[in-house]
Amino acid sequence: MKKVLALLLMFTMVLMLTACGSSSNSSSPNAKKKVGIAMPTKSSSRWIADGENIVKQLQAKGYDTDLQYGEDNVENQLAQIENMITKGANVLVIANIDGESLTTVLQKAKEKNIPVIAYDRLIKKTPNVDYYATFDNFQVGVLQASYIEKSLGLKEGKGPFNIEIFGGSPDDNNAYMFFDGAMSILKPYIDSKKLVVKSGQMDMSVCATLRWDGATAQARMDNLLSKNYTGSKIDAVLSPYDGISIGILSSLKAVGYGTPSQPMPIVTGQDAEIPSIKSIIKGEQAQTVFKDTRDLAKVTVDMVDAVLTGKKAPTNDDKTYNNGVKVVPSYLLVPVSVDKSNYEKILVESGYYTADKLK
Ligand code: BGC
Repeated sequence: MKKVLALLLMFTMVLMLTACGSSSNSSSPNAKKKVGIAMPTKSSSRWIADGENIVKQLQAKGYDTDLQYGEDNVENQLAQIENMITKGANVLVIANIDGESLTTVLQKAKEKNIPVIAYDRLIKKTPNVDYYATFDNFQVGVLQASYIEKSLGLKEGKGPFNIEIFGGSPDDNNAYMFFDGAMSILKPYIDSKKLVVKSGQMDMSVCATLRWDGATAQARMDNLLSKNYTGSKIDAVLSPYDGISIGILSSLKAVGYGTPSQPMPIVTGQDAEIPSIKSIIKGEQAQTVFKDTRDLAKVTVDMVDAVLTGKKAPTNDDKTYNNGVKVVPSYLLVPVSVDKSNYEKILVESGYYTADKLK
């Protein structure tokens, strides 16, 4: 009998504790608040890491999350965002596929008073975006081009060298920022003929790569090489993103680059994706730009907290990002240049990748 009573008592206590737990949970300010997160594609590991980090950090604060990937299809992404609105999202975090495609769907969000945070990529042509969390995108281009400048010894007056230039997706505002940042360093050398672009292609209208697609870049590189470099060598390729760099490197390998007698040109990149870090370790790709998605997630979560509590989120740039309708208050994080000499310190010691993953 005593045993039965003791068991009953324990059972009641467990019930009471559970009830207390759930009642304190429902009184937490974030309880039941739902964050819709729209990401562009799983075809690049960077965006998978973004999704994972942001979900982890939001859930740790008690938010519900609804994470969707648009797979680089604009219609898909619009349908996903509409669905988040219908299902009662309290806030939207969006890394868009096409920065100018969201005007109508964000009007619907506005009608339901759902705040919107632009994640990594600026959302254009709408007043309905509250904050922008990103990296210093101009600086990304500066880091890529400065790497070329240093590797070729341009500051020391060496040259002339041959270079070709690749841009990112023309529907992504970041692509223009990266391009302008890089050109701010390269253009003076092009003007003084220390850098020669044999194809003559040095404007986003001809250098862009739709949807950042590696195969598209590879085809363009094949073309550039066969038309301009049959009797001469190429010394550097400005590439804005690792997936594009891998395409460019395949094209270069196909015509014999990457051997002691015909070394790879300096090829830059962005995102520190694993295939590119492996390529850097092998001595093929020269450089990439690391953008710590853990930090970007943290800034975004602070913005989510702020918009849901009516507070002002921390920003550090309230003038650069004019989306055509308004200047979107932004927080810019610092990108870091990575090559063979510092990848272990920046990527492994910081816990971003385990050494195993890079083997
Ligand atoms: C991001 C880059 C990324 C590119 C391709 C850009 O908007 O800022 O980090 O390399 O998209 O995914």
